[in-house]
Amino acid sequence: MNKYFHSVILDSEKCTGCTNCMQKCPTEALRVKDKKAIILNERCIDCGNCIIACPYHAQKAVAENLDALKNYKYKIAIPATTLYGQFMSEVNVDTILQSVKDLGFDYVYDEVIGSDLARILIKNYIKIHGNNTKPLISSHCPSITRLIQSKFPTLMNNIVKIESPMEIAARLVKLKIKEKYGYELSEIGVFYITPCPAKITSIKNPIGIKKSYVDGAISINEIYGDIYKNIKKNRGKETENFMSGSTQGIEWALAGGQSKSLNLTNYIVVDGVENACKIFEKIELGKLNHIDYVEALACTGGCVGGALNVENPFVAENNFRNLLKENKDGITINEKYAIDLCKAGFVCWTEELIPKEIDELSSDIRIAFKKMEKINKLVKELPGLDCGSCGSPTCQAFAEDVVNGLSSIEFCVFSKNNDTQGYDNK
Ligand code: SF4
Ligand code: SF4
Repeated sequence: MNKYFHSVILDSEKCTGCTNCMQKCPTEALRVKDKKAIILNERCIDCGNCIIACPYHAQKAVAENLDALKNYKYKIAIPATTLYGQFMSEVNVDTILQSVKDLGFDYVYDEVIGSDLARILIKNYIKIHGNNTKPLISSHCPSITRLIQSKFPTLMNNIVKIESPMEIAARLVKLKIKEKYGYELSEIGVFYITPCPAKITSIKNPIGIKKSYVDGAISINEIYGDIYKNIKKNRGKETENFMSGSTQGIEWALAGGQSKSLNLTNYIVVDGVENACKIFEKIELGKLNHIDYVEALACTGGCVGGALNVENPFVAENNFRNLLKENKDGITINEKYAIDLCKAGFVCWTEELIPKEIDELSSDIRIAFKKMEKINKLVKELPGLDCGSCGSPTCQAFAEDVVNGLSSIEFCVFSKNNDTQGYDNK
């Protein structure tokens, strides 16, 4: 079995062990040992919070750069819709797409067309499954799907099993170019211009599908400066006539945009991993059975808050608001066409989602129970300050680390009990 790929990695040369990333990681996937951060891969959902939090740029995302284009005969860019909010609102979508194309791509395809098609399919999915499963949960954000796989596996059935706009757009454009110019699929390179590491991970480890049609991801912040230079050149000039999607689809870059475009009335929009966890806990307890749909996004404000964007998310949101005033709808997608594609297994999930294992205390229930007792005992002896100076994010996590043999009681500067006896992992 392939090893799970994580796009977020640590450059330990740059890491000073300041613990900023550890304090901001929503899944407690970070520890600090010997003045260096460590990512516990099985807990990491590649949300990128640590990238935003690190003042030394030691946490980073592994992405492609423009050199990767030379591996393909025909190069296509799919800019994340979020890119449109990275520039002042008077720059229109066509100028942005032209400026991306001028970086060396043969074609640029609007991700919004994927959102428009996804919208039809989600509406249909709600019609079919919405009465039996409440609430349904959006599958748009890969970090959220990973979170459900690892921390809330009982909710896996609630996830809407439709591919992301990125994947849908990649499939449509790749086949269109193959048909038009006769290239082999392997000769066509599709690059997603990404706002977040979660999308990079989802390309390498696709969710619900066998293989991604996207060949690589380039971070928005990696090429922002070059796009900006091209925008300056292209402003006010005629651009190519790019195929674009609807104004409703553009709003998917903002938290709540997806639910709005679905014309829902009984829904919850939740952003931020910690907030999403609170909502998922309520769903698990059966307290939200009256809700139809939950749009959950890992980043604050939605994809405008992605770690690889450049513009401040609040400014980007305002850019979007202004852009939406001026924007005109592009192509209209036929409903029957979308549903037929889904029936053919082309834009809907084909693979079962399986729970992602995280560190259990032990597969032997008796040992796990004994460990739990030790953890609870130790937690009572700790100061409960969650100060992080021990290198674990909370006192609870520290107690678990000590009992699992990943840390030692002596690292707690407040604990009077420097005797590790009784807390080892036997
Ligand atoms: S990417 Fe997110 S989950 Fe992973 S270590 Fe960073 S903050 Fe934690
Ligand atoms: S909310 Fe959007 S930008 Fe943030 S991790 Fe999810 S998909 Fe990526």
